[in-house]
Amino acid sequence: MFKTITIIGFGLIGSSIARKIRRVAPDIHIVCYDHSEDVCRKVIDLNLADSVSSDPAVVGGSNLVILAVPVGAMPGIVQSILPHLTENTIITDVGSVKEQVVYDIELVLPNDIAFVAGHPIAGTEFSGPEAGFAELFENRLWILTPTAQTPALAIQHVQEFCENLGANVKIMPPDIHDRTLAMTSHLPQLISYMMIHAADRLGQDLHHDVISCSANGFHGFARIAASDPVMWRDVYLTNKDHVLEAIDRFQNTLSQMRHMVENGDGQGMHDFFSASRARHLKHLESRKS
Ligand code: NAP
Repeated sequence: MFKTITIIGFGLIGSSIARKIRRVAPDIHIVCYDHSEDVCRKVIDLNLADSVSSDPAVVGGSNLVILAVPVGAMPGIVQSILPHLTENTIITDVGSVKEQVVYDIELVLPNDIAFVAGHPIAGTEFSGPEAGFAELFENRLWILTPTAQTPALAIQHVQEFCENLGANVKIMPPDIHDRTLAMTSHLPQLISYMMIHAADRLGQDLHHDVISCSANGFHGFARIAASDPVMWRDVYLTNKDHVLEAIDRFQNTLSQMRHMVENGDGQGMHDFFSASRARHLKHLESRKS
């Protein structure tokens, strides 16, 4: 369907897409555009693309352009590639925030270029072209957030593309995506950074390495604190209102829990933990089917 695909930003997500395309559709010509000479060199060494450049003009002739850079960089990149795009090119993205990005990009888009915003719900805490792997999207959700302006045929083509990468596509409005992901992704990431910070401060007060005395529970929280700070800074700058809502909801729950612990409310805690446990087990069960 797409003969030439440009991936802009060849990090974890961009290089994983390229690896999977190489595996399932080796005839597709993959173009890499990354502003980092170092990343371009690695893409050549890893043989992940057929053309590699740090010049935006390289997008010329592509049927599909995938933005896989931090969300704050996307509007500027779209402005810089627009003069080089051919008629009927489809642009999609993989950014973790949708409403602001969709607004900024649709504002500058000419009529003959379609934008289908997307977000694969898959990732790791690692960055860069070496971190990617072809199986990353296997059976994972890939959310598309088209608007009234998005042509139906472009949505269909991008949906088929994501499914060919192994993902299950779900369509939802950009604001619902952002409100949902603020709770399921952006808040947990904040908590992870905060857990490390709080444990380290305790270590300074106690004059010993508190973090080294941690087991699986802490590691489960802390793992994603290894994630790229630029990517996450952009998420909180572009999804501010929904993240604030998630923080407020969490803060209310935390206050409720603090109250139970302070008052030795064992029954309250037991009921709370049992309800959360049951909800989590139901979720795990639904993932099996
Ligand atoms: P990454 O591994 O850091 O890769 C991003 C790549 O884009 C890097 O090679 C970076 O180069 C390059 N880049 C940055 N600004 C650029 C620009 N202006 N022009 C050209 N290239 C540029 O990041 P990632 O984890 O793949 O994330 C990419 C996107 O996917 C983000 O929008 C993120 O929100 C989204 N996402 C991430 C995950 C995840 O778990 N990581 C999951 C789903 C979606 P430099 O490093 O040299 O700046």
